[in-house]
Amino acid sequence: MDCLFCKIIDGKIPSKKIYEDDQVFAFHDINPQAPVHFLVIPKKHIATLDDVTEDDRSVVGHMVYTAQKLAKELGCEAGYRTVFNCNEQGGQTVYHIHLHVLGKRQMTWPPG
Ligand code: 5GP
Repeated sequence: MDCLFCKIIDGKIPSKKIYEDDQVFAFHDINPQAPVHFLVIPKKHIATLDDVTEDDRSVVGHMVYTAQKLAKELGCEAGYRTVFNCNEQGGQTVYHIHLHVLGKRQMTWPPG
């Protein structure tokens, strides 16, 4: 499958890996929007949040759990933001779901 993030999981494209287990993979974003900006992705290829099925609920929960665990490990005790962009109007550019985690700067609302 021609998916950038599947290739990162397989090690065919290099990344700055933070964490990996049987279900998820976490790595630093190549174009960080905050001093800490990493992505948590499922090893299973799921194109968008709209494609999440009932069977995927536990892996998506594990993505969220992993995000908070790693955010704390990377020094975001003061807070952080998590974002799923979904489809074109949601700003999604890579079609393998990913949870953005941004921290170590003050976030503002609404996001752009
Ligand atoms: P989206 O816009 O789909 O929500 O986010 C995609 C994210 O993937 C962007 O923040 C972008 O910087 C990041 N990204 C795109 N290509 C690569 C890559 O090859 N390596 C890494 N580490 N991040 C990437």
